[in-house]
Amino acid sequence: MLLNFETGIDFAQKADAADPLKHFKEWFYFPQHNGSNAIYFCGNSLGLQPIHVEKAIRTELDTWREKAVGGYFGGTNPWLFYQDYVGASLANLVGASTEEITVMNGLTVNLHLMLLSFYHPTENRYKIIMEAGAFPSDQYAIETIARHYGRQPEEVIVEVAPRSGEKTLRTEDILNTIDRHRNELALVLFGGINYYTGQFFDLAAITQKAHEAGALAGFDLAHVTGNIPLQLHGWNVDFAVWCSYKYLNAGPGAVGGVFIHAQHAANINTPRLGGWWGNEEKERFKMEKGFVPKANAGGWNLSTAQVFNTVALKASLELFDQAGITAIRKKSIALTAYLEFLLKQLTNISFEIITPEDPGQRGAQLSLFFTSQGKAIHNKMMDSGIIVDYREPGVIRVAPAPLYCSFEDVYRFYEILKNNF
Ligand SMILES: *Cc1c(COP(=O)(O)O)cnc(C)c1O
Repeated sequence: MLLNFETGIDFAQKADAADPLKHFKEWFYFPQHNGSNAIYFCGNSLGLQPIHVEKAIRTELDTWREKAVGGYFGGTNPWLFYQDYVGASLANLVGASTEEITVMNGLTVNLHLMLLSFYHPTENRYKIIMEAGAFPSDQYAIETIARHYGRQPEEVIVEVAPRSGEKTLRTEDILNTIDRHRNELALVLFGGINYYTGQFFDLAAITQKAHEAGALAGFDLAHVTGNIPLQLHGWNVDFAVWCSYKYLNAGPGAVGGVFIHAQHAANINTPRLGGWWGNEEKERFKMEKGFVPKANAGGWNLSTAQVFNTVALKASLELFDQAGITAIRKKSIALTAYLEFLLKQLTNISFEIITPEDPGQRGAQLSLFFTSQGKAIHNKMMDSGIIVDYREPGVIRVAPAPLYCSFEDVYRFYEILKNNF
């Protein structure tokens, strides 16, 4: 892929022509603007609908209509095993074995379930280290788990904040904080990518340091899964959770994903809350007393498989399998670097790119802080058919998702900034 960027539109068109993933755009529906496809940079909030999702949903509707309860054991995709149909693709995206992956519930619910399994405060070890400015749901989860155990959030939560005058975290500060609290530390719970700044954290280094301190490490990968390839198993991450409606394109409220390291997942004595879907399939319908979980991440399943919350994920993941996460990431690095290159040409507006410059410390997203005119710029983008996200006090988050965004899309964003302000 071309990486010697140039400022003209012809560069964008050449880069698109040379892009091995260019045809994937055709597999998605785009919101309409004045009769044509909008440019969509909000895949970090809600990914676009893959066109074959409808057929996949219809398949399950057909099974339900034609077989009713027989759909659990018959039909195209027997529902009894529905979680398994997405396991291999997800395992591949996050660097895990299928035994370490399950899907169920939603992200925040799963985070609570993981906290109940992996946060066991004792008199001396009770602290949780997290990033300052974490996604609110994560903050609420940690606050309430602290209270659940009869402790005050302030005594439990240690936040790592940027140094004064800086917007993102330094890995050394994260690691030093872990060191400093090593005697009281129970858990490090970080986002994989901070939703606001777009900073991707060094999960391997954080995990290793947490383990050296005698604590566990878990991550919220809402902005990472499908965006950056990971090696969760190899890095010895204890657990991770994510949602499926951002880069994974599985639709609003789609089923959440969970990784539990084999070391914990294969141990049926790892503490958890139980439900009948966590039993072995062959035991499940005996309806006997005494919960014996499966010796894998599926042993955390509680309720019957949420087929209609999972079907779109199943369909969407086919595109990830075809494209391959390595190629997706390669294009993503180029696309985001191109966006950064163009933005740096602008002299007519004043703004700061909050997201780290190092491609290894970010995914698709760049967060732009406009010192003035932020809202006006956002309005102009929306009026021009470019969908981006705006957060007070002037931050526009631009996430060119490589499966359905092109170099020309990025160029159009730049062109509007260049010609209208
Ligand atoms: C999007 C997001 C969530 C959302 O959680 P849900 O339970 O799916 O609503 C949580 N945490 C982070 C970091 C997110 O980016």
